[in-house]
Amino acid sequence: MTFDYDLFVIGGGSGGVRAGRLAAEGGARVGLAEEFRMGGTCVIRGCVPKKLMVFASSYGPAARQARDYGWEYEGGSFRWERFRPKLQAELARLEGIYRTNLARAGADIFHARATLRDAHTVALSTGETFTARHILVATGGRPFVPETTEGHELAITSNEVFDLETFPERILIVGGGYIACEFACIFNGLGAHVAQWYRGAQILRGFDDEVRGHLAELIRERGVDLHVGLEVERMERREGRIWVKGSDGREDVFDQVLYATGRVPNTAGLGLEEAGVRLGRWGEIVVDDYSQTSVPSIYAVGDVTNRINLTPVAIREAVAFHETVFKGNPTKPDHENVPSAVFTQPEYGAVGLSEEQAREREPIDVYCAAFRPMQRSFIGRPDRVLFKLVVSQATQKVLGCHIVADGAGEMIQLAAVAVKMGATKADFDATVAVHPTMAEEIVLMKTPVRSG
Ligand code: NDP
Repeated sequence: MTFDYDLFVIGGGSGGVRAGRLAAEGGARVGLAEEFRMGGTCVIRGCVPKKLMVFASSYGPAARQARDYGWEYEGGSFRWERFRPKLQAELARLEGIYRTNLARAGADIFHARATLRDAHTVALSTGETFTARHILVATGGRPFVPETTEGHELAITSNEVFDLETFPERILIVGGGYIACEFACIFNGLGAHVAQWYRGAQILRGFDDEVRGHLAELIRERGVDLHVGLEVERMERREGRIWVKGSDGREDVFDQVLYATGRVPNTAGLGLEEAGVRLGRWGEIVVDDYSQTSVPSIYAVGDVTNRINLTPVAIREAVAFHETVFKGNPTKPDHENVPSAVFTQPEYGAVGLSEEQAREREPIDVYCAAFRPMQRSFIGRPDRVLFKLVVSQATQKVLGCHIVADGAGEMIQLAAVAVKMGATKADFDATVAVHPTMAEEIVLMKTPVRSG
């Protein structure tokens, strides 16, 4: 049987573009359809614009601290209307790079929505139909907003937040996960009044309990009005603003309400089930260890499979798919010890197990140091950084490393190499400290704070 393409990719995000580019560079005939903008969530409305906003939000507090270090500083305020066009221009530049690299590799790019017709056929919204030996679904995910809340349609999500016409002076952030915590800190740093309401007992469910408590304290200290055990009961548009009633009876008014209440896989209306592709409970595409779906010619990578929803993981899955399908080298993407960072202020970097997860598996020693770093104690700031190692008693291997500090995202990347290599506590101890740094504490912790 002959096909129009060796590979047809649905979705131009991190996973889809990487797989398409590798296959095309290797000589395969590749088509890729993207209905929105090339680059996907990460580039267009996720990691990249978020990180640029994190940078923007760090200068206000830094300038105020500079005064305590002896600088003349007369105050100042953030101008969204100055920042926003620069942000949009940067995203357009990056989108162009994605498009160019893929086209240069020889792939055909279609600005269209693609749906599956059958195991080897895709139909485009342009009316075209193509056959392909392999189809890769990499359609990512989208924000989920609980529609049970009255007035939910007044809320924005991370999809809209980068395009706001005006800067919200007062913003409510709903949720306690990565996105909620990051945007609470971003808007706080940019000078908005920020309230964050989370339904559970502590933010960042699933992460290390001690760290969650520590971070919540710091987020509050830096000015976010963070409440746990609080949900939105009702929202109404009143005099151009949003009136919100909380589950504890409180009422408040905000310029914007940002819901960061999770993301769901983009699988609706793609013809997946009709083509025989099995979906899971949350609508995610069910794949095996090689990212193959229940239809042998159809594969899926990235957030649409709801494994670990991070850009670098989607890219690894795409590379493994390429090795498996186009290089005859069956490769499983490795989902063990994936580091990640929550870009709050301060940041939280983590790799491996939390104390709670580790203790469920085996007896452990916990090493933890929380202290005021030199840079902050000099100016009388109360912020404390936290360094924590979770160590197996039996093997002495470091099972988890957790860092809360400015720059923790950068630090955890390096600590993750050691953890991934199976470093023991003795290996950490044998490493000479870099002095004076905050991170030296990671090799200086001598006595466990808890064992068992
Ligand atoms: P998360 O799953 O991290 O958090 C969702 C939050 O919304 C949780 O606090 C959850 O509460 C709450 N929630 C869910 N449903 C409801 C509801 N019906 N009513 C009220 N609250 C609700 O999702 P995010 O949207 O923050 O992020 C999605 C994913 O994107 C992350 O898991 C991560 O993989 C990725 N990401 C990674 C980033 C990074 O690496 N820095 C940054 C941003 C996103 P509960 O805990 O009670 O369930």
